[in-house]
Amino acid sequence: MTYLTNPELYTANPDRYKGNMQYRRSGKSGLLLPAISLGLWHNFGGIDSYENGRAMLRRAFDLGITHFDLANNYGPPPGSAESMFGQIMRTDFAPYRDEMIISSKAGYYMWEGPYGEWGSKKYLTASLDQSLKRMNLDYVDIFYSHRPDPNTPMEETIGALDSFVRQGKALYIGISSYSAEQTAEAVKIAKDLGTPILIHQPSYSMFERWIEGGLQNVLDENGIGSIAFCPLAQGLLTNKYIQDVPEDSRAAKNTGFLQKDRITDEVRAQIRALNDVASERGQSLAQMALAWVLRGERVTSALIGASKVIQIEENVKALDNLDFSEEELAKIEAILASEAK
Ligand code: NDP
Repeated sequence: MTYLTNPELYTANPDRYKGNMQYRRSGKSGLLLPAISLGLWHNFGGIDSYENGRAMLRRAFDLGITHFDLANNYGPPPGSAESMFGQIMRTDFAPYRDEMIISSKAGYYMWEGPYGEWGSKKYLTASLDQSLKRMNLDYVDIFYSHRPDPNTPMEETIGALDSFVRQGKALYIGISSYSAEQTAEAVKIAKDLGTPILIHQPSYSMFERWIEGGLQNVLDENGIGSIAFCPLAQGLLTNKYIQDVPEDSRAAKNTGFLQKDRITDEVRAQIRALNDVASERGQSLAQMALAWVLRGERVTSALIGASKVIQIEENVKALDNLDFSEEELAKIEAILASEAK
């Protein structure tokens, strides 16, 4: 039965925990995250349709997605994704706050002057306070250092995160895009302070495999979870670019990071070949790409983006088949090794 939500008053699907969503422990912590989480980097900004964003958030929650990932600069304009989310928290999700894991981050450029980016305690503290106001929240569940700062002592950045937990503004702390070495250093500092790092948020997909080996080993050794951002390579690992660049796709817009020139003939050939493997598995390419990221349980959650409700529905169905045969994995390896990406 399809569960219909009232467009005005939202009541969550009573069966939201009876579907196929899986909850995985983030490293050696008490926190379970949905195997698929939803990020608000694109399509939830001031330039986007509020009603579409609201519909996606509702549908995601109804499907058992309990984790929503934000950052100070998501929009555009920067800050507007948090404002939009805050508005929807008020109208739709206030009764469900204790069922939600909401994260935010600071690290990239946010405001003018010397205190508007990177990793100083001054910037991180001001930014988290701004994020809480925009999102209409007393606390975030996870607060991240969004990128390593080469010029600020790691003790200061991680010390700031630790202070947010002590102040009750964040429950857990995370780091994003830190290298294996930087992660090892941050983990030690955090442990010494008494606030262990819960999770690392790196990019990871069939097209972006830098975490394999080094970083994943550091995370495993230290009992830290991971949430893979851009698991669909911003939409490349779906069937949408197989023929051309659809007008309503991310690559057709000039506001994002995915540019048309990334979709070369070689990439298209790889996408087509991967799509064939997915079809043989009875999955769409998007579903196989998510299953691949989640294979073997080293990754706690795949952090997807979406522009339409139907994409979230399709992507959650990836969880119906996360197993790969040796032969399928070998085929995928051969395709990924076949041409320059
Ligand atoms: P994905 O790789 O999941 O790409 C999402 C995009 O792919 C969608 O917006 C949509 O694009 C397309 N798509 C999704 N599902 C389907 C489908 N089933 N069929 C066809 N197309 C589909 O992730 P994002 O790049 O959006 O990043 C996800 C999240 O990761 C962000 O929201 C953010 O929370 C986080 N992130 C973190 C970063 C960091 O530095 N820590 C950096 C970047 C992201 P279209 O518009 O073309 O329909």
